[in-house]
Amino acid sequence: MATKAFVNLCKFCDKEKLLIEKSHIIPKCFQKPLKNEKNEMTVIDPERRKRPPVQDFFFEGNILCRECDNMFGKDEDYTASFFNKYRNDSIIPIGETPNLFGKFIFYNVDTMRIKKCLLSILWRMSISNRTEFKHINLGKLELKLKNGLKTDEFTKETFFPVQVGTTKHIDDIKARFLKVPNKSIKLKTGSSYAFGHAMLLPDIVILFYATSFFTGDTTSLGLKKNQPLLLNYTNQKMTMNFLRGIIKDIKDAPRSF
Ligand SMILES: [Zn+2]
Repeated sequence: MATKAFVNLCKFCDKEKLLIEKSHIIPKCFQKPLKNEKNEMTVIDPERRKRPPVQDFFFEGNILCRECDNMFGKDEDYTASFFNKYRNDSIIPIGETPNLFGKFIFYNVDTMRIKKCLLSILWRMSISNRTEFKHINLGKLELKLKNGLKTDEFTKETFFPVQVGTTKHIDDIKARFLKVPNKSIKLKTGSSYAFGHAMLLPDIVILFYATSFFTGDTTSLGLKKNQPLLLNYTNQKMTMNFLRGIIKDIKDAPRSF
């Protein structure tokens, strides 16, 4: 929750700075598609306590200085804008390739800005003290990720790869949710294993591989340097099963909007 600002070490630049009262772990622009005409959204409490609608959520005080927070903001706006264009069909794909489970759809966007944004969110979820993010703890990788975001290391294909998927073709309310990772998924990446963290945004799925040395097949990775964004479209059945696995406690129901 927001508290009075004070001087302390900024968790990103590690400098003693005046920290801001409100830093978003999940950017505010990512929450916008969830809001109604009154600019409010409903938060579903894991313990099913009734909560009043809110205008803002997923923020924390005294973790970042203004400079670091603003620096994240630039790529957040770019990324949210691409997601919004995807949602309302105002960006045209440059191609698609069918595969066994559906297809890959390609978009001509700045993949490194999007990767930087999404990885900065993964890092923020890991450092956050909010209970909503208790399942995301990168351990020793947290510092690697932070340092990788400060340099060009994050642009490497093997550094914390990200898959981007879609649920836009699914007529179920679960495809309209924002859900932060609620468990780590152990994934085989070539000769080794890495933990994966899946995050749902309305119509979009993000899968983070928590590793700085990914050794797996990079074909289906979503965000590679100097390449178009690859959106993983999987068939209805697989996508629905995936959503049911991530959101176990919400019954199937058609989209209401
Ligand atoms: Zn800072």
